[in-house]
Amino acid sequence: MAQVQLAAQCVAASAPAPSFTPDAVVLGAGCCGLAVAIQLLEAGHRVALVSKDHTPRTTSDQAGALWRPFGEVSPANAAQFRAWGQETFRFLNAARLKHGSPATGILLVSGFEVFPSAQPRPFWADDVLNFRQLSAAELRELGIAGVRGEHTHGFSYTSIIIDMDVYMRFLHREFTRLGGVLRVAEVASLADGAAEVKRLYPTARLVVNCTGLGAAALVPDASVFPVAGHIVKVSLPGLHHFFMDSTNTTYVFPRAHDAIVGGTYFKHDGNTRPSIANRDDILRRAAAFVPELSDVANVRIVGEYVGLRPYRDVTRLELDAGKTIAGGMPVIHNYGHGGSGVTLHWGCASSVLDIAAKLLPPPQKRSKL
Ligand SMILES: Cc1cc2nc3c(=O)[nH]c(=O)nc-3n(C[C@H](O)[C@H](O)[C@H](O)COP(=O)(O)OP(=O)(O)OC[C@H]3O[C@@H](n4cnc5c(N)ncnc54)[C@H](O)[C@@H]3O)c2cc1C
Repeated sequence: MAQVQLAAQCVAASAPAPSFTPDAVVLGAGCCGLAVAIQLLEAGHRVALVSKDHTPRTTSDQAGALWRPFGEVSPANAAQFRAWGQETFRFLNAARLKHGSPATGILLVSGFEVFPSAQPRPFWADDVLNFRQLSAAELRELGIAGVRGEHTHGFSYTSIIIDMDVYMRFLHREFTRLGGVLRVAEVASLADGAAEVKRLYPTARLVVNCTGLGAAALVPDASVFPVAGHIVKVSLPGLHHFFMDSTNTTYVFPRAHDAIVGGTYFKHDGNTRPSIANRDDILRRAAAFVPELSDVANVRIVGEYVGLRPYRDVTRLELDAGKTIAGGMPVIHNYGHGGSGVTLHWGCASSVLDIAAKLLPPPQKRSKL
């Protein structure tokens, strides 16, 4: 097992500090785990982040990543879902204003989302900027109304798109600046009072489980499963708006140096090898909104991958009261964010902090992000 620190651009191995005595251990170095680790550090706790993989090899690195709550919202946590999203939007926008888009990868982008039928005003309409319904004339003007003859309705709004290559490095920099230590290790089980974590860090008083899809085996939790998403990265200068047809998972997101074109949404599919047939289908669907994508001579594919969304009907964020950890360290779960983890991560971390505050010794405050 190696203890590592992520510098601005690269991962550099460093010797374990024998004196490092964390009081909280966060499992998982995706955006959800990093947000929890940073907020615990800001609150003055000593934090170790233990993760099997890290940037750029997490699902979070592969997200689209538009701030927009996706998927069915279960009534079981609808209010929380909205509050987590709102807090994340506020945080991202504040980080953009304070540190700038080039350093954070956080971009404010306007665009269009279209549908084959009338849609009710979504619950998140007031959480983005400039939300309004598109008129039929506007859809025609945008060249969207005629797309496969289907798109008769649409929204226009301004939201946040994140270049996750940049944002994940930004989070790692903040984590390191605040004194966090990343340890590359796989934890096989949380049984026996999280004894495995206790062996790594005997001083730890708390574990936060942010292992995404890994929670299926780690907890174990049979209700977590992969939803495969294929993304093609293209060089497409001059695109300044996002386009999305979320009914068939078609989207084009402009970023500073490239554009994300997607996608697929295959439930219970853990295959991460991109297929040529899916790539062709994605580019064909997307070109209906952004005709420049058909211009093979000018569109350069600069990347391609299939990521696995960590799906669960309801995101699990709670203190584990189960018998597997009885008598051992408390475990707070924070996993199963599906296709909305980027949209929710900072708000979820705040909820984790509320629970953790009752379990950890009083901290010493540090400067905030
Ligand atoms: C193609 C695609 C597009 C997406 N687009 C969007 C979007 O537009 N907007 C949006 O909000 N969301 C989007 N998402 C969803 C988003 O990426 C996820 O919800 C989010 O990244 C989940 O973050 P996480 O930190 O929980 O999980 P992950 O990023 O998967 O991180 C989990 C971490 O846990 C570690 N781990 C796992 N098991 C163990 C173990 N046993 N021991 C130690 N470590 C372990 C892993 O190595 C990893 O570091 C998209 C996802 C995909 C795939």
